[in-house]
Amino acid sequence: MKSAPLAVALALAAASCAREQAPAVAAPAGCAQGAIWSHGHWRSQRGSCMEIPEWEVRELERDLYILRQSPCASYEKPFVFLVFGSDRALLLDTGAGKDNHLAATLAHVVHQWLERTGRSSISLIVAHTHEHDDHTAGDADLAALRVPELSVTVTALELEATKRLFGIASWPADIGHLELGGRTLDAIPIPGHSKLSIALYDRQSGIVFSGDSLYPGRLYVSDFPAFEASVDRLVRFTADKPVAHVLGNHIEQTSTPFRDFPIGTIFQAEEHELALSRGALLELQAALAAAHGAPHRLALRDFTIWPTGPGFTDAEEIKRATRFIEDQERAKWSPPQPAGRHGGP
Ligand SMILES: [Zn+2]
Ligand SMILES: [Zn+2]
Repeated sequence: MKSAPLAVALALAAASCAREQAPAVAAPAGCAQGAIWSHGHWRSQRGSCMEIPEWEVRELERDLYILRQSPCASYEKPFVFLVFGSDRALLLDTGAGKDNHLAATLAHVVHQWLERTGRSSISLIVAHTHEHDDHTAGDADLAALRVPELSVTVTALELEATKRLFGIASWPADIGHLELGGRTLDAIPIPGHSKLSIALYDRQSGIVFSGDSLYPGRLYVSDFPAFEASVDRLVRFTADKPVAHVLGNHIEQTSTPFRDFPIGTIFQAEEHELALSRGALLELQAALAAAHGAPHRLALRDFTIWPTGPGFTDAEEIKRATRFIEDQERAKWSPPQPAGRHGGP
């Protein structure tokens, strides 16, 4: 979603590799090797801001890392992703908040990876799922990072740079690619949540990185027709490919079907798993089609379609959310609450 004030103003059901795919579709290498994403609980579900690291780092499988920002730094607690090929690495997004210390954490993770692989250096491309500031705030720090073993190139937040990086000639119709060395990512333009939204498909793991366009939470849609076309495009693209998981940028959904946490919730006890299956994408497509071009807010089992813009914002709702965010900020240094305390949408 967007940054805090704007969000207010606008107000892994882990499918097994085998189960979700048609028999004719080969499982990706990661699945074939039996690499299972053990999701478990993130420390940011509960605890104290005194003890939660600024970034929690996990290796989903070999050469693929997921990092989650502390809820104490930003209630958005976005995820960012780090993917290594043999020639270069990709950092997808840079988190929320100025001085978010992602650059230091990243340098540490890369250093460990280089030690493990016996290499002395690697180049890193920084790209973005989209241009919103809760996913791009660390760009300047990354660009300024001076570490001998790591050369960093940050992709500019504009359409031409995005097209150039992925080799996309015609936006949004074309599919682009990024070669990391023995590892190819496909880039599927999916504007609708924002102008520059893009999904990446990692052929090796079978993971679709879906940004803010599909995740267990509130799918804010600023351009409904574009979003509908984008979802259709992603469905078509994945139709003949194994999809192990769809990983978005946030979790705002509780583990109870149809219920999200209030906007601004810091600690999310009993939150939904991050990963969705391709089934969620199909459900999203069907729900959009059923709206017949008349956008409206719609809560589904694992996410909510949430049109934004004039006519979709309730002043009372904004006031309530603003008060809730202020209360959450004041309380975040207090001792942990018992598990299971959360509100509804
Ligand atoms: Zn976001
Ligand atoms: Zn966003």
